[in-house]
Formats: sequence, structure tokens, C-alpha cells
Amino acid sequence: MGYIVTGPIFMLMTDQKCSLCDESNNVVLLATLNEPREKDDISAAIFNEVFILNYVESLPDDLYTLILHHHPNYKIQHSLTAGADYYMTVCGCGGRYGDHYVSNQISEIMLLNPSVLRVKCLINDGSWIVSCNYSYGSYDSNLLNKAL
Ligand SMILES: [Zn+2]
Repeated sequence: MGYIVTGPIFMLMTDQKCSLCDESNNVVLLATLNEPREKDDISAAIFNEVFILNYVESLPDDLYTLILHHHPNYKIQHSLTAGADYYMTVCGCGGRYGDHYVSNQISEIMLLNPSVLRVKCLINDGSWIVSCNYSYGSYDSNLLNKAL
């Protein structure tokens, strides 16, 4: 299932240890300030909140190319837990960073220690169809706004 995701799109990043080799890698989640939506109708959409994209199963080529430029170990992998293929950070040893593990840590950082979160604006304007889920919580949207 695809959502219409609109810019700006951000990369939320932190360091996390690989569960296989213990090496620390930069891990990433994609986020936006506009609620992903199923239709063009924006009347009910929520704006200026932090929406985290999870279980990204497909990405338009232009977006994926941009992400790879900053984060070359972002790859589509099969997840037995999710029973699907989705994009995630992969360690040099082949260890995978599942979305659940990464989301938990990044959510915790945003709530408890936001100053250590690395935020990069990937692209300002645009609209893409992305196959994913999304979540949103009571995160401070200024964390993203200040990266604009
Ligand atoms: Zn590893």
C-alpha cells in the first residue's frame, strides 16, 4: 500500500551497535512533517508534526539515490519478523538493523535526549508515492524544523 509523502523529508540518525559483530553503525529512519496520506485530499491531514516512516517497502528512484548519497548502506532486505522486504541499514558484516530496533532507539532519543539526534533534511520539496507504514508521537517538531 502506498502513501503520498510530501517534502520536506528528513533523515533521523544515530549510532547503533550491530547485533552480530558489535560494530557501531550510523542508522537512519526517514521522517516528514506532513502526514502521509492515501489521497490527494489534504483537508484532514495533520501538518508540522513528526511522522516517522516505517517498513519502507518501495521508494521512488530519485529519493533512494539521494538517501544512498548520504547513507550507502541503506538497502532493501527480507525481514522474517515483518514477513516482507523493506529498506534498512545493513552492517558491513551483513547484520541487519530491523525497523523495530531502530525506531525504539530513535524514539527514545527524541523524547529523552534530543540533542544527540542527528537530523538532516534530505529534500525540501516534492511529493512521492512510498509503500510504507508511518507512526507519529509527541515528538518536538522543532527537532526537524531546525534542520531546514
Ligand atoms: Zn555487523
